[in-house]
Amino acid sequence: MERKEILEVKNLSVSFQMYDKGLRQKELQVIRDLNITVHEGEILAIAGASGSGKSLLANAILGILPLHASVKGTMKYRGESLTLERQRKLRGKEIALVPQSVGYLDPLMKVGKQVVGVNGSKDRQREVFARYGLGKEVEQMYPFQLSGGMARRVLIATAMISNAKLLIADEPTPGLSTEMAKETMGHFRDLAKEGRGVILITHDIDLAFAYADRVAVFYAGTTVETAPASDFRKGPSALRHPYSKALWEALPQNGCKPIPGTQPYAGNLPSGCLFAPRCPYRTEACETTIPVRQIRGGEVCCNHAT
Ligand code: SF4
Repeated sequence: MERKEILEVKNLSVSFQMYDKGLRQKELQVIRDLNITVHEGEILAIAGASGSGKSLLANAILGILPLHASVKGTMKYRGESLTLERQRKLRGKEIALVPQSVGYLDPLMKVGKQVVGVNGSKDRQREVFARYGLGKEVEQMYPFQLSGGMARRVLIATAMISNAKLLIADEPTPGLSTEMAKETMGHFRDLAKEGRGVILITHDIDLAFAYADRVAVFYAGTTVETAPASDFRKGPSALRHPYSKALWEALPQNGCKPIPGTQPYAGNLPSGCLFAPRCPYRTEACETTIPVRQIRGGEVCCNHAT
């Protein structure tokens, strides 16, 4: 059965007006031609190095980019355009962020009260806490009193208080033990099983490959490949883009093979394929705009992918 699409982001670009020298202004495009879709019941992992645009995408979906940002392209939530007005209405209700750490919580307020926030009720908070095995005593605790595992569950509860249909988890696992990271991923899987869509933004590529349904690989602010997570588990021969293959090969269990060079800075991008300066397969054809192609059940932005 085909899953219904919850979110579609197409050709998204985000730029910022910056001051160059003196009072001269220039536009810095940090995300370009970025595409993702999220379906009901699905975990979509977004993988890529720092500065690849992962967190900025989360802010664009939630409508919380800084005022000097300019956004182009289309974003649709359940088939309807995600305008700023609609983002305001849905944020924290249908579309919710799972905060990254307890640093997000007010250290001077008891967690029960914080989770209730402006959209919840005491009954709902207790229902959500019970779901995550958080007893009544946790309501009365301050953030600093939470153990690591409790904190993780409280953070998921802050997103779940409103029964959101689309959850965005931005780096939910750094600092967690392997066991705790697995437990957190298990919570996201349960939420997906209930028909919600989960966007998992992560540096932890291993975890993304193991727990997601699909993986979108970002590089220098654009999507280079989106494919079933099972392809990432199989390895390079199942993947399509040279950068995805390089990410796989850079994992410790696959030999820690480094990629020469660095991801380009938004203000100094090469023309054509953004990965070209590091790509062993580049040809002249890679210096032009690279179209997105559908190959073997995935999408790839590479001239020579087969
Ligand atoms: S388009 Fe060319 S340079 Fe870019 S990843 Fe593909 S082969 Fe490499």
